[in-house]
Amino acid sequence: MSIPRSTDEVPSCSARGCRAAAEWALRWNNPRLHTADRRKTWLACADHRSSLGDFLDARGFLREVAPLAGSPTLDG
Ligand SMILES: [Zn+2]
Repeated sequence: MSIPRSTDEVPSCSARGCRAAAEWALRWNNPRLHTADRRKTWLACADHRSSLGDFLDARGFLREVAPLAGSPTLDG
């Protein structure tokens, strides 16, 4: 197995100023801006999953939260 993978491509958390590796994908939709089947994705580290999720949930935007596939830290 030799899938080329640059370490620069590791997805990082979407929280402002946070450079931690993302562990979660928060999928959301703003019905004022997006069609109903559209999904925007924010990535979150373990520390920011709840704060980003709460931000979206408070606005009624949050649709689902899923573990980020391929994260090496999911079993941590
Ligand atoms: Zn973070």
